[in-house]
Amino acid sequence: MSENTIPYKIYLSENEIPDKWYNLRADMKNKPAPLLNPATCKPMTADELGVVFCDELVAQELDDTTPYIEIPQEIRDFYKMYRPSPLIRAYCLEKALGTPAKIYYKFEGNNTSGSHKLNSAIAQAYYAKKQGLKGVTTETGAGQWGTALSMACAYFGLDCKVFMVKVSYEQKPFRREVMRTYGANVTPSPSTTTAVGRKILEAHPGTTGSLGCAISEAVEVATSNPGYRYVLGSVLNQVLLHQSVIGMESKTALDKYGVKPDVIIGCAGGGSNLGGLIAPFMGEKLRGEKDYQFIAVEPASCPSFTRGRFAYDFCDTGMICPLAKMYTLGSGFIPSANHAGGLRFHGMSSTLSQLYHDGLMEARAVEQTAVFAAAEQFARVEGILPAPESSHAIRVAIDEALRCKETGEEKTILFGLTGTGYFDMTAYEKFNDGVMTDYIPTDEDLEAGFKGLPVVPGQDQ
Ligand SMILES: *Cc1c(COP(=O)(O)O)cnc(C)c1O
Repeated sequence: MSENTIPYKIYLSENEIPDKWYNLRADMKNKPAPLLNPATCKPMTADELGVVFCDELVAQELDDTTPYIEIPQEIRDFYKMYRPSPLIRAYCLEKALGTPAKIYYKFEGNNTSGSHKLNSAIAQAYYAKKQGLKGVTTETGAGQWGTALSMACAYFGLDCKVFMVKVSYEQKPFRREVMRTYGANVTPSPSTTTAVGRKILEAHPGTTGSLGCAISEAVEVATSNPGYRYVLGSVLNQVLLHQSVIGMESKTALDKYGVKPDVIIGCAGGGSNLGGLIAPFMGEKLRGEKDYQFIAVEPASCPSFTRGRFAYDFCDTGMICPLAKMYTLGSGFIPSANHAGGLRFHGMSSTLSQLYHDGLMEARAVEQTAVFAAAEQFARVEGILPAPESSHAIRVAIDEALRCKETGEEKTILFGLTGTGYFDMTAYEKFNDGVMTDYIPTDEDLEAGFKGLPVVPGQDQ
């Protein structure tokens, strides 16, 4: 198909929303390591996980073999409100860069939560409702996950308790108000409302919080209140499964025009959008059908893939969650307070960690001033004001396109534009005022985090 027949936006029709999620693990030779019970260091059973998570989500979490899982009609109906999301050919950016590369991005910011998180929030709320639960608890950092979950809970009439990292709670009052508008109860974390919160506050008075702390508090509340379960917006296998709609829609849209991406790029916080975007493409690579280059992009200030250890670790600061084997900086690692770009979680999805460990995916760490420079360049030519998180992917997409300009290669680049940045204007303000700085943790900083890794028999760390 000739170049100019490809529209600026490739929209799919409603009936092209996938009716099944793709479970990448089914095609992995080396499966992601199982979650372990921290007390026994044995794999978590479905019964043990069922205390914390909804039953159906536990089943999805443990299912390493079923390649396709039916998306219930109620979830597909909700997806129809904001999906399919557009796949956009970045003609204007290509022109501005003067690159022979072709750049596409999948835009997930076209909903009130402003990010891809709604794809999993609605699924998790649906299964909680189906189980007859009263409500769910969760943590939120920058606030996108909390917002998405609030929307999903409002839709199904579930109670929603959100622990929001204190620094974000204070810096993003509007984000908090959106959640309350959808009926959620929002508590700054660490708080005095939980035992683990009080313990953390005692040990670190004045702490501005972290995702790890907020997770501990949310899990405590879920497990100590009948009719509640805890839900998580990233990292877990089930979340990557739900996010596979991003990659499946992208693939359907590109296949329609006979376009095969050479490089697929996504930002990586806990790994859910990246895992979802690459899923069907990685499936082809794993099955030996096609080859792609995959690049995970993370902040230099929170470099789990590029400088972390591949080890069993806690997902939370309070050390009450199961252990996950992942690239991690240690559950005690808290990124520098001047880091404004999101993607602050200390660990990474076990599935992506395994793929990275097996050399099937690359990773790059980028500094935040370079990320915001890319964000502004992108906003000015493509129109969309990107989330700082998404802008990590933009940075590397631009770098790759500029490399093509030097070499003359006409590569096709696909990246995930996970969301919009309207609630991140404090960070943009810092950048515009020229006062944003880059902080890269020293090896000693990281060693301190690694010292807190749990000792797991049979695992050399
Ligand atoms: C949460 C979030 C991310 C990072 O989370 P992943 O689980 O790694 O995808 C990226 N972009 C936006 C806009 C987000 O809200």
